[in-house]
Amino acid sequence: MSAPADATYDLFIGGEESPGAAGERRPVIDPATNREFARAAVGSVDDARAAMESAERAFRETNWAEDDGARRGRTLFRLAALLEADAETFARIETLNMGKPLRESRADVGYVVRTLEYFAGLADKTEGETIPVPGPRFDYTVREPLGVTVHIAPWNYPLLLAVRSVAPALAAGNAVVLKPASLTPATAVAFARLATSAGVPPGILNVVSGPGARVGEALVEDPRCRSVTFTGSVEVGERIAALAARHLRPLTLELGGKGPVLVFPDADLDRAARAIGYGIFQNAGQMCWAASRLYVHESIREPFLERVRAVAEALRLGPGLADGVEMGPLVSPEQLDRALGFVADARSDGGKVLTGGVRATDAGLASGNFLRPTVLVDVPEHSRAVAEEIFGPVLAAAGFRDADEAVRLANSTRYGLLGAVWTRDLSTAHTVARRLDSGMVVVNEAPITYPQSPFAGTKSSGLGFEQGRDAVRTYTRRKNVLVNLGAPKRKA
Ligand code: NAD
Repeated sequence: MSAPADATYDLFIGGEESPGAAGERRPVIDPATNREFARAAVGSVDDARAAMESAERAFRETNWAEDDGARRGRTLFRLAALLEADAETFARIETLNMGKPLRESRADVGYVVRTLEYFAGLADKTEGETIPVPGPRFDYTVREPLGVTVHIAPWNYPLLLAVRSVAPALAAGNAVVLKPASLTPATAVAFARLATSAGVPPGILNVVSGPGARVGEALVEDPRCRSVTFTGSVEVGERIAALAARHLRPLTLELGGKGPVLVFPDADLDRAARAIGYGIFQNAGQMCWAASRLYVHESIREPFLERVRAVAEALRLGPGLADGVEMGPLVSPEQLDRALGFVADARSDGGKVLTGGVRATDAGLASGNFLRPTVLVDVPEHSRAVAEEIFGPVLAAAGFRDADEAVRLANSTRYGLLGAVWTRDLSTAHTVARRLDSGMVVVNEAPITYPQSPFAGTKSSGLGFEQGRDAVRTYTRRKNVLVNLGAPKRKA
């Protein structure tokens, strides 16, 4: 694979790389310095159509869909092994492109390897059913691939969130068109190259980068599109849902969050403080499931907030490739300004900044998009900083008096992705987990997931689910076959 620096990441259509119909390329930026480190093709509507055409042809003409699922599985296992062998290069590209510390990028690539292996193992397990019906008839169902599936990915975990849906779609026998975020196209293209080396037939995995409003919408509206998986903001998710409804496309949406963390007085407070730090400052808080709201029991509020402040202030900021760095920059100057805007609003709404709330301008950081790990306190519930996703290293903390109030506060936003409960009491843990209006709950844990666990949000956080054994079925259609066996009726 080409070296990360000075590389070019073009479109990948029909097994071939090209700069696209218009031949336009743009710089790919390192957010730690805001300097260009590579160039990438900017796809157009014509390129989107070419990718859909290539996928549809490959679906019809190659044996990918028809083949024994076990063979597809073996190809995906090979792809996982190739990625594992090249993991360090992928991790370095991800860090250069997105800014996160190298150890986080390494963990992301490891997660992608495990995701591929998990779905490779499920490729031959899409069984149908037999259904008893009256008379001399035989009724059964089969699970068939859908055809061309479209996957639109965000920039915060560029490869991980792309492969999270691409892997089950490929395992089920579909042909895929992937659109990475415009800011972070690099690893998707590198991954497509690797897929070809693993034996994925040309045209079965296509990558077309480009502006969402043009390229993304063209993919969703293309008549060959048979399903859409979108991971990104609520606003764009709603727009895609409207387009998908107009064309009756099956749809999976993984959208934003405003994760509540409830800390009861009997919790292991040291572990809780460290986990909250991880949950909001990892990836500089650019996570859909970030632990971005802390509600702590009034009886322990001040000492606990001191622990959280200490965790925030101890973090070492720097470029993701530097040794020992624990938090990198935000992905772009726009995201930095957006996060600072939320902090300003919190202040003008009467909230206080316990720590952070400003850019980091020390030597080596001033030219990057670094925001100091931030903890806000006493921000009113109606403030944007409490109600809306910030997508930065900004925690909003407040107190609660009892479990009822904690649950009410936790459920008070339009989001419902991941909630966390910290307590040693079994009854509190399970009753509060049951009352949280969210797709996922963790108890005495930082946000954590595995390829085998369903990942889902409710309310404005999403529709459908990803991961887990049922994810492969999302990318199949259930066909019913009823056969009249023509046997004579038995006499009464
Ligand atoms: P975004 O919505 O701006 O963009 C996501 C993708 O959609 C990009 O590839 C973009 O180019 C494309 N896009 C933009 N407009 C489009 C349109 N009109 N039609 C089709 N595609 C379009 O999101 P982002 O800024 O890249 O990512 C951050 C958001 O993603 C946050 O809100 C975060 O919570 C969410 N997210 C959710 C999950 C999850 O699993 N629930 C995971 C990660 C990120």
